[in-house]
Amino acid sequence: MPAYAIISDVHANLEALQAVLAEIEKEEIDSILFAGDCVGYGPDPNECIELLRTKASLVIAGNHDWGAVDLTDVRDFNAYARVAIDWTRDVLTAQNFSYLQDLPLTQKISGDRAIFLVHGTPKEPDQWHYFLFEFDAKVNFRSFNEQICFLGHSHIPFIVERSPRGKTRSFYARAEVKDGCRYIVNAGSVGQPRDGNPEASYVLFKDDAIEIKRVSYDILLTQKKMKKAGLPSYLITRLSEGR
Ligand code: ZN
Repeated sequence: MPAYAIISDVHANLEALQAVLAEIEKEEIDSILFAGDCVGYGPDPNECIELLRTKASLVIAGNHDWGAVDLTDVRDFNAYARVAIDWTRDVLTAQNFSYLQDLPLTQKISGDRAIFLVHGTPKEPDQWHYFLFEFDAKVNFRSFNEQICFLGHSHIPFIVERSPRGKTRSFYARAEVKDGCRYIVNAGSVGQPRDGNPEASYVLFKDDAIEIKRVSYDILLTQKKMKKAGLPSYLITRLSEGR
């Protein structure tokens, strides 16, 4: 079975992305899967898109990616997110703008441990729902056929396992992947974690185990760049609090 790293919600945070990619480099990984939201909130959208394009083998769109290129309505975004998305739209290069416009909402990998990749939920990928609790698992497991679904969007990493009898349980660090069981895995966020831990989050899937990993990065440098770009101070301070 190939070994994967799954990353999500980079949100134009280049320092966090570089730190995570440097960690992934040390693992024996065959491919990197990206679960959406390359841009929005952070100061380096173009750099992050260009880096992801070279490193990730599968890339899908998040609501901020589509919001920045007018494919999704940003009136639902909160005020801070909207300011950041308007800023992002202005600084995107024409090439990166059309790259984001062409991103699909889902991707699939067939094989022994088949994978479904989506940003929000498998049930309605274009509605940008949050997958937050085991409760959300019941309906969503019916909405994809693969054994494992990797997603992002809530910025809170966790793993839900569903037994063949339909019983679910959650893991917050590591889970063995068993035949007959199915999984929904939230990879957390590289560039703006919200689970109280400011370290970048990503997921490793190798040797039939799924593991949530955390990586420290130069938060102060990212915050400095955000300040210089004139991005909202609420978005700047939340990075050091991981919320
Ligand atoms: Zn996000």
